[in-house]
Parts: sequence; C-alpha cells; structure tokens
Amino acid sequence: MNRLLGETESLCPECLYRIPARKVAEDGNVYLEKECPEHGKFKALIWRGSGQSYLDWNQNAQEAVGPLKSLTPVGRGCPYDCGLCPEHKANACTMVMEVTHRCNLRCPVCFASSGQISSHEPDIETIKGMYHTVLQSTGTPSIQLSGGEPTVRDDLPEIVALGRRMGFQHIMINTNGVRIAKDMEYLQRLVHAGAGTIFLQFDGVSDDVYQYTRGTNLADIKVKAVSNCAEAEIGVILVPVLIPGINDHQLGDIIQFAKSWMPTIRGVHFQPISYLGRYPAVPRDEDRITIPDVIDGLVRQTGGELSSENFLPRRSREAYCAFTSLFILGEDKRLLPINQRHTGELVSGWGYTRSPWESARSFMNLHWQFSGGNGARYSESCCGVNSAPKLRSWEDIYQLVAIRGLTITCMPFQDIWTLDLERLKRCCGHLVTPDNQIIPFCAYYLTSTSGKRLYTNLAEAATSK
Ligand SMILES: [Zn+2]
Repeated sequence: MNRLLGETESLCPECLYRIPARKVAEDGNVYLEKECPEHGKFKALIWRGSGQSYLDWNQNAQEAVGPLKSLTPVGRGCPYDCGLCPEHKANACTMVMEVTHRCNLRCPVCFASSGQISSHEPDIETIKGMYHTVLQSTGTPSIQLSGGEPTVRDDLPEIVALGRRMGFQHIMINTNGVRIAKDMEYLQRLVHAGAGTIFLQFDGVSDDVYQYTRGTNLADIKVKAVSNCAEAEIGVILVPVLIPGINDHQLGDIIQFAKSWMPTIRGVHFQPISYLGRYPAVPRDEDRITIPDVIDGLVRQTGGELSSENFLPRRSREAYCAFTSLFILGEDKRLLPINQRHTGELVSGWGYTRSPWESARSFMNLHWQFSGGNGARYSESCCGVNSAPKLRSWEDIYQLVAIRGLTITCMPFQDIWTLDLERLKRCCGHLVTPDNQIIPFCAYYLTSTSGKRLYTNLAEAATSK
C-alpha cells in the first residue's frame, strides 16, 4: 500500500538538475521519490512513521515571513539563485559565518570538509562586510561563528566584539572544544568580547564514539571544555551529530550529562547525520535517523522521564526542519516539561509566540545564553521545584528557566537524496559568504554523488584564487 502525501521538487543526485519529486507513505514510513530522465529513479527515507504522523507534524505550521531584503534576482529558479532571492519564504533565525577553513582536527565526519586547504580566510574588513550584509538582508539573527574550527583564529574575540558593536545580541562559537579546553585565557577573551554561547560538538560520552566521528579520543576534552565554560560563565549547547549504530544509543547518556552540568549547559541540539560529499549509492534506510527516531530514542533511553508529547514541531514553517522543547530541572533531578504537544497551555519554542517575550528568533537568545551568573553546577540543596510546576505567569516561568532551563532540540539537514525544494524555500538556517550572499545552510553544503557542490565554499574559493 502506498499513499501520495504531497508533491514537490528536488534535484537529481547525479547531475543536480531540478526534477519533480513525490512524498509517499509506504510500509509505515515516508519516502521521497524522484526520477531524472537521464539518471533514473531515486528513493530516500524521510520519516520513520506513518503517513498520518508525518502530516500531523505539520498541521499547526504557519507561513513564515521572508527576508527583509533580497540580494539576488530570480534566474534559473530554486535552488540555483540563492543570495537570498525573492522566492525565499523565511527570514534567518540562525546565520552561520565561516571565519576560517583551517581545523585542528581531521574528522571523518565534517560538513565543511575542513582542514585540507591551508590559509584562506576572510580578514576583519571582509567580516565587517558580511555582518553588514546580514543586517541589511535579515536584521539581527543569532550568529554562529564557524569554520573550519573558528578557534584556530587568534583574533576570534575581535570578530565577536565587532559583531556585538554592530548590533548582534547573540553570537555563538561553533567549536570542537579543543582550544577552549586547553586555553582558559582565550575562552575568557571570547566571553569578555561578548560571545553568548559555546555551540559544542558533542557526539557522545565515550571515546569509541569520538574515534569514529572525529578520529581521536575527545571525551575528556569535552568535559574539560564544559568545565572551563562553567568557570568562565558562558552557556553551552551540546551538539551531537547522530549516526545509526555509532551513538544513537547514547541519547539518554547525553541528556544525563547535560543535566549534571546545568545551568552551564543550556541545551542539547541533535543533528541527525546527512550524507554530503561522495556517496555513489543512495544511503540505505538504516543509515538514516529521522525526527521520530530521535524522539523515540529520547523517550526510551530516559526511562520515562521524557515523553513524546514534550517535543513540538517548530510552529513557523518549515516544521520538518526541527523539533523544539523546553524543560526545567526539578528538585528530584528529573526534567519537567514546559511543553505538552496536545494538552498544555504553556508552550514555548521556535516559532511559538504565546509568550510576550518570545519569537522564533528570541528562543535561542533567551534560553541558550548563560544567565545564571552563579558559577557552575547546582548545589545539591538548590532549587525548590519537585513536581510539574504550577506556574501561573510567564514571569514565573522565565525566572525559573533562566537558572534551571534546558532546551532539547533537533535539526535534521537535507542532503541530495532527501532534498525537498519546498522545504528549502522555508529554511531559516542560513550562511553568509565573503561575497556577501546569503544561502540556506542545506543548499550551501549540498553535494552531488560525485562530490560536486551547488555553491562554492571557502576552500574552493581559495583553490581557484
Ligand atoms: Zn540526472
């Protein structure tokens, strides 16, 4: 039995030509099917669960508002005109800025294929121009300084300070944690410059995971990085890239680790692996982790502490790009949900605006920056909440969340097999290039089966110069 759930467009994984695609429910899962006249048929798992559960996930989604200003015209059509073009339907919630292509690790798993090329990186004037482009086109989203590994730049604190001076309230550092674990003075310079959050790659709690994902033992380094952040009083978001059979059994352990380091750790942001680079064959179903898999894993591996009701689709489209949730740590050390998908009055998360303080963009500003100001871990005696909080006002909630909140979020990226152009047009995770273009993250990192990219990255720009 299969059932057509919707039609969209995608790209051929071989030639990157735009082709029609269909979302189809079949045998309890949802697939994206497409056919290139030249290269044949392709089919990829996009949702592990019934067609109805897939449709339900999207039912309350509202259309988002596009960028303030488009910087490129419509020419060949989506996804070839990113800049952004006027066809784009969502403004940025996060803006990635690659400040270097260098890296101090050689990870087998890397979005940015970093490290192979040496020295090309934007200078401070170019970065000023990039910030300016972001302001002009999108306003002030959260900035993620990325790479490569951004902390290889000694002038990263200046880059942070420049962004703060230009009006960006929330600047995150996307890092593997190696330098901040070893160099406290550098971390303190970042904090003094105004960095808001350390967005820390954190694939698991044991070295076997890091051997696979990063090619070296890093478990102790990660703990040291978090401990230094506690001392420097900067918030941390743990960012695990989830890979089937490698670390998808550690979801519960990661949540326990996060709890043990609250309030320094502000959240856990899961990124199911997407297949970029050279992949001559379609990844198998068992190579994929979809939104329902992450939710199921969290529920099973936390022994009933978390329930699937706690995890919400993002309210503003695109719902299939994320889930969001917010918890408070109770006195008994259990997480108490602020959200209930179907029943609760109190709803908070990306795109939920019931709170007077919160919008999609401010969810991260509010919850991901360290606001406790009282050092590292909770003492055993702290904090007097022990049952589902009877919170009557948003002020109650935000006071509690400021010191005891934890977000658990997830963002699956698209790859050439799963790419849905309707979804891409509503993407709010963007990247700004040194050429002052703004490109959705998933389009920027997209590669064909032979590794050909749709958009030139920093490394290729360097090679061609
Ligand atoms: Zn083709």
